[in-house]
Amino acid sequence: MPAKKIQQLAVIGDPISHSLSPAMQTAAILRLKAPFRYRAIRVKTEGLKDFMRGKAKSLAGFNITIPHKETAAALVDRLAFEAQLIGAVNTVLNKNGELIGFNTDGAGYLMSLHADKKFDPRGKNVVILGAGGAARALTAVLALARAASVTVANRTPRRAEQLVREIGFRLPKSKLRACALEGPGLEASLKNCQLLINTTRVGLGGSSFEEFPWTKLRRGALVSDIVYSPRMTPFLKTAKKRKHPIHTGEGMLVYQGALAFEIWTGLKPDAKLMQRELLKNLRLRESKRAPAKKKAPPKRSR
Ligand code: NAP
Repeated sequence: MPAKKIQQLAVIGDPISHSLSPAMQTAAILRLKAPFRYRAIRVKTEGLKDFMRGKAKSLAGFNITIPHKETAAALVDRLAFEAQLIGAVNTVLNKNGELIGFNTDGAGYLMSLHADKKFDPRGKNVVILGAGGAARALTAVLALARAASVTVANRTPRRAEQLVREIGFRLPKSKLRACALEGPGLEASLKNCQLLINTTRVGLGGSSFEEFPWTKLRRGALVSDIVYSPRMTPFLKTAKKRKHPIHTGEGMLVYQGALAFEIWTGLKPDAKLMQRELLKNLRLRESKRAPAKKKAPPKRSR
């Protein structure tokens, strides 16, 4: 019997060498013995158009990461509903030469909330810190999942207002608000907040918010951070110290990848295996970054 032709999958972005998607997706492919190969391809901004017209057509599908998610939405042949609503694409399926753009970031986040914390956002008050691409994906899916309210708080309030206006226009029944990242607007929203999500870049590499009005946050609120490197961000560490349940960011990466895998292959991957592979790689990365611990001096024998 002739061997099945291996189909090519990829993740594109710039930079891309840091991406953990190849490790995670390859683990899923090997487990299922699926005839696919997944690799990272660096595509610079000025080369994105050519890539989408050329090389992309030889792939069965691919993921898109920073900085191309929004630009790619205008370059695919067709957009799935959520990608259209969010205005960004993180997954592309090549269907007989037609490039279809999906966005699995938001749905992946909701799956992770459910799988890791059994949390259902329906009827809940949510506060999102940040108004970038990830916040846009989360606002859209939380509104679709019928959260009672979603408040978007951003350092640049104008961006939060624009996000809320655009998503609110498309989902008029949703209750969306915008405010600044500090001040009475945020504090009022924290009072009845049941899910607080950090989607800002604060936390990356261990950075932290200078001040955050923790005392205003409702007791028992679930605190979530989508930054996954480090996994325990200073924001989550403080939340834990203050006895809030916490939700770490690697689950979103896992489930957006699992959904993409299903779109390309029609097969359900082992998400828990993908999560273990991701955590293994994250730990390795963090141990390389951590300064070497000083060795204790050897005990002297008497
Ligand atoms: P983005 O579009 O560049 O947005 C960045 C956001 O962070 C903006 O709201 C920006 O506020 C805010 N910000 C940056 N520096 C800040 C600071 N010092 N203080 C307060 N706010 C600050 O980025 P993105 O694509 O949304 O990604 C955001 C984060 O989510 C990144 O760390 C990314 O790695 C992570 N992420 C994780 C996953 C996952 O699967 N877990 C998926 C996607 C993204 P301004 O508007 O005021 O500049």
